[in-house]
Amino acid sequence: MSLRLTCYGAAETVTGSNFLVEGPKGKILIDCGIEQGRDFVESEMYKPFAYDVPSIDALVITHAHLDHIGRAPKLINEGFKGRVFTTAPTRDLTEIMLRDTVKILAETAREHGLPLLYTDDDVTKFLEKIEVIAYHEEKEVAPGLSIFLRQTGHILGSASVRIKDLSDDTSLALTGDIGNMPSPYLPDWEAITDADAVLMESVYGDRVNADKEDRVALLRDTIKKSVARGGVILIPAFSIERTQLMLYEFSKLMEEGEIPHVPVYLDSPLAIKATEVYEKWGSEFFKSAAEEELHRRHDLFKFPFLMETPSRQDSEEIAKAPNPKIIMAGAGMSHGGRIGHWEQKYLPDPTTTLIIVGYQAPGSPGRLLQDGAPHVRLGGVDVRVRAKIETFVGWSAHADRDGLLDFAKAALPESGGRTKNFFVALGEPSSARFLAQRIHDYLGTNAIVPTQGESFEITKDKIKRL
Ligand SMILES: [Zn+2]
Repeated sequence: MSLRLTCYGAAETVTGSNFLVEGPKGKILIDCGIEQGRDFVESEMYKPFAYDVPSIDALVITHAHLDHIGRAPKLINEGFKGRVFTTAPTRDLTEIMLRDTVKILAETAREHGLPLLYTDDDVTKFLEKIEVIAYHEEKEVAPGLSIFLRQTGHILGSASVRIKDLSDDTSLALTGDIGNMPSPYLPDWEAITDADAVLMESVYGDRVNADKEDRVALLRDTIKKSVARGGVILIPAFSIERTQLMLYEFSKLMEEGEIPHVPVYLDSPLAIKATEVYEKWGSEFFKSAAEEELHRRHDLFKFPFLMETPSRQDSEEIAKAPNPKIIMAGAGMSHGGRIGHWEQKYLPDPTTTLIIVGYQAPGSPGRLLQDGAPHVRLGGVDVRVRAKIETFVGWSAHADRDGLLDFAKAALPESGGRTKNFFVALGEPSSARFLAQRIHDYLGTNAIVPTQGESFEITKDKIKRL
């Protein structure tokens, strides 16, 4: 018996995760994300899915980032009848992300004269289909196919999924995104010990993250210098995980007197809600050291100089506050949102510091800023950039090239696993190829970089391009 894998998204690119795994009788879709680049949603995403949606038995969500969930409600209006499985924190985060996204999509549709990708009603119907599954609970979710989730330490609730053909145990695992461990509070990723083939991410397959201590020192020094210049510090941050990690470090640095006590504005209703989900599930889903820390400090993400500004009115007040001040807001790649407004206002000012802490897709405004563009178009306005742009590499929520190689190694027979073949996806082509080459050279194992739409047959020992 065998499994068939088709890569409908995130092959030779980072975003738009969407994979179909078929057994002899059942079909499971893994992730249904949006592809992001120059625009918040690439126009490709409006086309109908390339597979027969009503025949899919189940969708498994690896985690709640938009490039893994952002297209899922579109399944509803294409006749999806199956069930959706994910962890409890991912269910909660998915709900707040999709409720927010549907509003941004409506704005995008109006601006560009595009149809709605999906409606609020589709989101409601989609959320009703979610069934929570615990880590390490094996469950048959499609005829003859079971799933099993493991921790990946990327964001709260993130999981890899192993899919097994119950007739003969042939197994394929898909990693979703793999965390940059150790995190101060997220558990470490778990090795995949029971998959014949593994499809793994490669966002930073060719890059080395900074040391954890160095990254905090860099944050401290950058904040001190920027505060001394008397300017505004802007941080475009993804609402889930990057924001909480920054808040965690700000809270500690301020408590220890390592950085000046300047106001930190969390100017994102979405990030405020995501932080509440972290607080809700922390005692159950954080690693044990963080649970003790939570007990001692009472709160990992809040501190006296933090100001949350959920309403538009509160947000507008930030402009009146004297400098220096720190503003964290979305969108993470500067596609509009409140950060777009602050960038328009403050990037022309040479005392401003813009700190980039996450992956910026090619063509996105954030990537242009990161690459040193002297002008950038934000919200339809041409903005002159005089601000200091700082890129912090160690803050990524993704494992780097060595972390990814460690992850691959842990799945091999010599480490107690049984993986004989890897697929390298969820990365730009250079990064995916670099990782595949290293898996081949350092681990002596076959690694394929699939292209968009490609299908493979997976048996216990072999994979075959179809
Ligand atoms: Zn992610």
